[in-house]
Amino acid sequence: MAKSIVYSILVVVYCILLEVIFRYIKSRYKFLISVCISLIVLFIFYLIAPLKEFFVIPFLIFVLLVLDNINYFSEQSKKDKFYQPQIEELENKYKSISEENKKVKEQYLNLEKRLQKVLNTFYLIQEINNNLKVEGIIKDIYDKIKSLYPGCIRYISLVKSIRKENVDIIEYPEHREYVSKLSPFSMKTNIIVFGEYNVYLFDFSFNEHEIRIIVEYIPTEEEAEFLQFVDFIFSKVKPTLKRSLLFKEVEEMSRIDGLTSLYLRRYMVKKLQEETIRAYRYNTVYSLLMIDIDFFKKVNDTYGHLVGDNVLSNLAKLFKDFIGGKGIISRWGGEEFLILLPYTDKEEATKIAENLRKEVEENKFYFNNVILNITISIGVSSFPADGSDYYQLINSADNMLYKAKQTGRNKVVSSIKD
Ligand code: GH3
Ligand code: MG
Ligand code: MG
Repeated sequence: MAKSIVYSILVVVYCILLEVIFRYIKSRYKFLISVCISLIVLFIFYLIAPLKEFFVIPFLIFVLLVLDNINYFSEQSKKDKFYQPQIEELENKYKSISEENKKVKEQYLNLEKRLQKVLNTFYLIQEINNNLKVEGIIKDIYDKIKSLYPGCIRYISLVKSIRKENVDIIEYPEHREYVSKLSPFSMKTNIIVFGEYNVYLFDFSFNEHEIRIIVEYIPTEEEAEFLQFVDFIFSKVKPTLKRSLLFKEVEEMSRIDGLTSLYLRRYMVKKLQEETIRAYRYNTVYSLLMIDIDFFKKVNDTYGHLVGDNVLSNLAKLFKDFIGGKGIISRWGGEEFLILLPYTDKEEATKIAENLRKEVEENKFYFNNVILNITISIGVSSFPADGSDYYQLINSADNMLYKAKQTGRNKVVSSIKD
């Protein structure tokens, strides 16, 4: 009895399975699959059927299935033959559409990349426009180009020339040999091929100056795009660069005295503060030379102020040539000068002062037909020997200068001597 129930359940499951295969499976081989399943089921029934008559039921179902499907499949194949060309055509269309879709996707990705680049350029220009200093702009441009074309850029500099002479070079990173090769403005092409690297030049004028931007790069596959980008950046940044150059000039003018081209007192005070901080931090020394021209009033009174002015500017030139890079020279007052000598102790500073005094004494100042001899008096003070801050040192140098004036002029006084 139990076997009969199991048997009946299996017959029902078998029927459901066939139904499912025919309704829901889309495979071309579903008929073959169902025949295989039926044969397996028939074999199982054959083995387990309690009465062989029961075996007839699944067998009949199987026969019905075959008959039904022979009809179905013959119709299906007729339909297939009829639709085959259309299907093939549709399949071809589908293929070409998916290829086009692929291309469109690629184009879209490309466009997205280019848009990103345009956006980056826009942000870059915005960032650069916020910069007030030329140095900052050059560094910003270098960094940004490097981030967008890492393998390309090697060096960038801005050269400011006047009357074919370089007056200012701003570069990133340090690479000075280049500038002399490519300036002043002899080359007129804007790309020079050197072999392993090329150089791109961007020129424009600013006031009476000629400005040249030098970009050294390694040519890669991206060269054309890179150059287009660099050219675009510079043409957009040009007004900002001009503004910054102007700002630099104005800043410089506010630091430098027009008659002598020496630093003004305000700038010198700043340098003195910095030097004092450095001397404290690194436990170093520095000295000051306070200089005043002897009987300068007489020069003005005898030869006029124009000659006096000329003496001042020539004396400033003499100071610059004599001191060179060893110190910072400022016009402290009318005909008074203050020289800062970093890392120089009093003994060394006194020697320098003495030599400078002699140099001035021996020098002849020419102006039209006038030949003049000038002498100076110098007071010397040093950090930390004469004070713990720069204003104490100025005071001390002033006192030494006063002493020099009191004791005959044309001399150097430092506390060592007295
Ligand atoms: P001393 O040896 O005591 O220093 O005598 P001195 O005549 O130099 O006296 P003092 O330092 O008081 O005189 C400074 C003179 O320098 C007064 C002023 O006419 C002159 N002077 C200051 N600035 C200028 C300037 O820019 N141009 C000219 N031509 N003269 C100036
Ligand atoms: Mg004076
Ligand atoms: Mg004087």
